[in-house]
Amino acid sequence: MRYVSTRGSAPILDFEGATLAGLAADGGLYVPESWPTLSRGEIAAMAGLSYVDTAVAVMRPFLGGCLSDAELRGLCDAAYGRFSHAAVTPLVQMDAKHWLLELFHGPTLAFKDVALQLLGLLFERFLRERDTHLTVIGATSGDTGSAAIDALAGRAKVDIFMLHPLGRVSEVQRRQMTTVLSPNVHNIAIEGSFDDAQALVKAMFNDAAFARRHHLSAVNSINWARLMAQIVYYFYAAVRLGAPERKVAFSVPTGNFGDVFAGYVAARMGLPVARLIVATNVNDILHRALSTGDYSCGSVVATAAPSMDIQVSSNFERLLFDLHGRDGAALTGAMRGFEADRRLAIPEKMLAGTRDLLVSARIDADEMSQAMRWTAETSDMLIDPHTAIGLAAARAADLAPDVPVVTLATAHPAKFPDAVERATGRRPSLPQRVEGLFEREERYDTLPATLAAVEAYVSERAVAAA
Ligand SMILES: *Cc1c(COP(=O)(O)O)cnc(C)c1O
Repeated sequence: MRYVSTRGSAPILDFEGATLAGLAADGGLYVPESWPTLSRGEIAAMAGLSYVDTAVAVMRPFLGGCLSDAELRGLCDAAYGRFSHAAVTPLVQMDAKHWLLELFHGPTLAFKDVALQLLGLLFERFLRERDTHLTVIGATSGDTGSAAIDALAGRAKVDIFMLHPLGRVSEVQRRQMTTVLSPNVHNIAIEGSFDDAQALVKAMFNDAAFARRHHLSAVNSINWARLMAQIVYYFYAAVRLGAPERKVAFSVPTGNFGDVFAGYVAARMGLPVARLIVATNVNDILHRALSTGDYSCGSVVATAAPSMDIQVSSNFERLLFDLHGRDGAALTGAMRGFEADRRLAIPEKMLAGTRDLLVSARIDADEMSQAMRWTAETSDMLIDPHTAIGLAAARAADLAPDVPVVTLATAHPAKFPDAVERATGRRPSLPQRVEGLFEREERYDTLPATLAAVEAYVSERAVAAA
């Protein structure tokens, strides 16, 4: 399997190269040269397989021989052995039509663990044979930071520097990052906003000499291996509900379009997906883009579902690549226009072909709270604000009566206790395995929001590339 950039001019890489590169050198994102397919028979044979065996069957075609099946299984065993539920991503029935796919049983209680636990192990495996060291740099408004730190803590040949805005992440989120004391983990509180932190990360990547010296790499969802790991649970859930004989719909709380794009790939691989519902909050650029072709940035409104408070969804470019007939030059033109004008009009002709698979919905704060209350009343369960947005969209969707709908439950409710309590009157408690969080020692440094300060900090601590 070879990987090409959505902008068409970066070097073609194998799976290992695409995993270590993250972003493509031409500013695009890596995608497989073509979508592999699984036959109905191969999908039917997944019935009854464990999560790890399903993962091997689904991911194998993307590796192009970079790892043997036994090696891949070993990495999946290690990654998913750290989940607290034997099913890894259990399906929970809510009523005759609605199901939740609980993706939050990993170490940091967010679905990002599913992909990042595997990515951390892939990095270590691929770096072992190379004479290189990676410096992973990221900015976080909460969930990604803790999941990435947990995945990379203590791994050989990788340092991770995670920037968060000082005083603007919740205490649980901060402690999940700052109580990890491994020497290769470096937490930085930036005196500024999340946008300042993200701008600093971008500036470090754009400083070519600095980026080369420290072998900078990213773990955000532009990394192909992360998306690949997320395809697995679409197969796992659909097969449990009767695929390939029965079609299943999914509703996905969406921010950067990574999770729902993994569902799109599952459908392209042959999984019979009735619908993929792209659920957004009031930051609805994706809903506008998919329903009317208006892909234009507004300003971000802070909501109770912060992981969906976005302006630009980086992974949307991967869908646009397919919509442009996989023509990298044409997409480069379109994206240059978008970067200059902050808007792109997607022709109706291009969107028409997606409508039998992708639909979208915009869910406001009232609809979100209502979904939390409905769940508490009908199932005696608490769900987090992101999951509630997915469920509200699922309940509003116009689907055939015999199609089950799976809403992806992307975070544990205890990560957002205030919003859950406001909506339901009940306060979710932290699961036992993270209970000691408030007693543990924290370690982080505070820096001004200047490139010079952050680069000096990284240079002092990162291992320079050979
Ligand atoms: C990251 C995140 C999302 C959005 O996922 P994308 O892949 O960015 O679309 C939704 N919910 C939660 C809890 C998240 O952490």
